[in-house]
Amino acid sequence: MKAISIIKKNKLFFFVALAYVMTFIASPDKAIKSVGNSVYYLAEMLQVLPVIFLLTVVIEALIPKEVIMRGFGEKSGFKGNLLALLLGSISAGPIYAAFPISKTLLGKGASISNIVIILSTWAVIKVPMLANEAKFLGVNFMIVRWVLTVIAIFVMAYITGMIVKKKDLPVDSRELGTLEIEEDYCIGCGLCVKLLPEYYEMNHNKAVVKKTPEGKEALQAVQESIERCPSKAITLHEEKAL
Ligand code: SF4
Repeated sequence: MKAISIIKKNKLFFFVALAYVMTFIASPDKAIKSVGNSVYYLAEMLQVLPVIFLLTVVIEALIPKEVIMRGFGEKSGFKGNLLALLLGSISAGPIYAAFPISKTLLGKGASISNIVIILSTWAVIKVPMLANEAKFLGVNFMIVRWVLTVIAIFVMAYITGMIVKKKDLPVDSRELGTLEIEEDYCIGCGLCVKLLPEYYEMNHNKAVVKKTPEGKEALQAVQESIERCPSKAITLHEEKAL
């Protein structure tokens, strides 16, 4: 019984192991080649992933949520799209490295559309790739492909943003709710800070979000502060709340 529960918990691992065993039986040469490829990619991942995880920790710990929301959030508009394009363009490394970063950015308030732009730009038009493309296929080819790809990426980002909502994404308990304070609406009365100093703080006479609420109780408390805010400046993005 214990063995069955271990297999159930590690379905993917056992499925891959089984695929290797079957390939070894059917075609040992191909199996050896595929093991070689797997080891190569594993070694590549081991080199890249520590840097990426470090980067996600830096984003998580050092970049305030407000900054991410302003740069890449729902209300960042076309400027946010351009910033996402720039971030994806100057990136380096394989595309799988972009996923943990994207998840961290989403957790800190980036919009789905901007994440699509970052991922797509990272995958197909990042600067090191364009430089190589120009070298081998010519500058004209590279420019035309870049322009058409950017148009396609923006269309894709807007459509994905309309179809996929944050509630559709897998969330963990850390991402229960995303608080946002509309700076222009906040009159700086300080009531939210007085009510919940662990979640709000004042910055230049405006309230800013200090911490993401976790758990039902925290969400209820935050909900109360939203209702009591005299200028209705605080929003809790329900799509992220359980
Ligand atoms: S309660 Fe509302 S208006 Fe007052 S400081 Fe907080 S966010 Fe600003």
